[in-house]
Amino acid sequence: TPILLWLRRDLRLVDHPALVAACEAGAPVIPVFIHDQQVSQLGAAPKWRLGLSLAQLEQDLRAKGSQLILRRGTAQQVLEDLIAETGAGSVYWSRLYDPAAIERDTQVKSALKARGITARSFGGHVMFEPMSVETKTGGFYKVFTPMWKSVRTRDVPQPLAEPAKIPAPEAWPASDALDSWAMGAAMQRGADVVLPYTTVGQAKALERLHAFCDGPIGGYTANRDLPWKRHGTSRLSENLALGEISPTQCWHAGKGKLDQGVSDAEVFLKELVWREFAYHLAFHTPRIVSDNWKEDWDAFPWNTDETDARVIAWKQGRTGIQFVDAAMREMYVTGTMHNRGRMIVASYLTKHLMCHWKIGMNWFADCLIDWDPASNAMGWQWSSGSGPDATPYFRVFNPVTQLDKFDKHRSYVSTWLAEGRSNPAPEALAYFEAIPKKWSIAATDTYPQPIVNAADGRQIALDAYSNRGF
Ligand code: FAD
Repeated sequence: TPILLWLRRDLRLVDHPALVAACEAGAPVIPVFIHDQQVSQLGAAPKWRLGLSLAQLEQDLRAKGSQLILRRGTAQQVLEDLIAETGAGSVYWSRLYDPAAIERDTQVKSALKARGITARSFGGHVMFEPMSVETKTGGFYKVFTPMWKSVRTRDVPQPLAEPAKIPAPEAWPASDALDSWAMGAAMQRGADVVLPYTTVGQAKALERLHAFCDGPIGGYTANRDLPWKRHGTSRLSENLALGEISPTQCWHAGKGKLDQGVSDAEVFLKELVWREFAYHLAFHTPRIVSDNWKEDWDAFPWNTDETDARVIAWKQGRTGIQFVDAAMREMYVTGTMHNRGRMIVASYLTKHLMCHWKIGMNWFADCLIDWDPASNAMGWQWSSGSGPDATPYFRVFNPVTQLDKFDKHRSYVSTWLAEGRSNPAPEALAYFEAIPKKWSIAATDTYPQPIVNAADGRQIALDAYSNRGF
């Protein structure tokens, strides 16, 4: 009887334990992607980007004589329908670790079992599964460095090869047409603006990994902090988020370089483990995606009003703080933001502007093509102080001195800011082409004065912390 291979954030054929196991089982394999509530709820950019990934995966599967069956509905209903239609006796998938996915998958698993269907889940989305990493006293890690030290020397198995053949069923069940899902409907700027910044699918992701490991990885330690260096980092986050490449593939490529004496590769491995840490926290402390990770932060006097002028200025990249505005515009146009920028804009929103981290987290979830439920939540809570950071309250980034440090020659801000410049960069102008008309802002406007300047904002945040007894 056929096996249903339920694909979610594992949109690749290489290093795919569930796919390999299905192929080895000797039965026909029916790959399926379900447009369920979790897909419906995706923000505009990640949903559009997922559509690109599915289109590529359809092609990759076809090249193997297989197909991708697309269905819409609740996961359980769709799987049950497919089981009835195809006579499948089992469903395989790759495990996910964010709370919404766990809840769905647990329900699906028990419903399938109750009907006598085999449900098998596999690793692959992370290298160090959250339940397999524990502290010496048997707990989970709440701080990054000890987790890094504990996994650093572990043996990570080599990536699995792509199956030579994917056994096909005699007849394929019906599939929706991907176009009918209109994955880009909410993303007007997708095809015209963001598309050139994407790198879609497993083959291109692997090329990207190799290009990074053949050169830039050598200067990664210093360059990864410079937002104007577009090739200073791997830019693999959009691929990792959808599973177009596996963390194991990235780890071994980096490890290979380290073994050849490229010492900066160690820092790259460490960053990959930050992603693992994010899933570790999402698994062990699911509230990280929705509530203050540190519960005593519930008393913090954050603004939660999305219509507040501070929030609007921040989203529009019109705070008058160059580093913040450049980074917000970079995200709007490219669908990603440099990590330094993410830390600066998150710190400015939650500390200088005293706005709730959830407002920022949700805006990122709407704009990022590399949106990841665990890394985004961790990044926001780390930046706001409510999350897993040993020294949060005095870490108030100064967005002006940060610019002197990381964008000394102002290349980053001159790429992204147009106002008051005689010859704005194409990227800076692209931003104004991309934004909704109703924002009513133009490249010819005067650049705003800071809505909260660097020094005042720091004091506002520190006062709020000390008033609350942090
Ligand atoms: P590289 O520097 O090449 O690093 C390699 C990989 O390691 C990345 O692709 C990523 O998978 C992982 N990684 C690196 N840094 C981190 C980190 N701090 N946390 C978790 N994983 C990391 N990353 C996302 O993938 N999706 C998000 O939605 C996301 N939201 C963030 C929100 C905030 C407020 C902050 C501060 C960080 C967020 N990050 C997020 C983490 C980080 O900014 C990006 O992973 C990184 O900028 C991606 O660029 P890169 O692929 O070139 O990374």
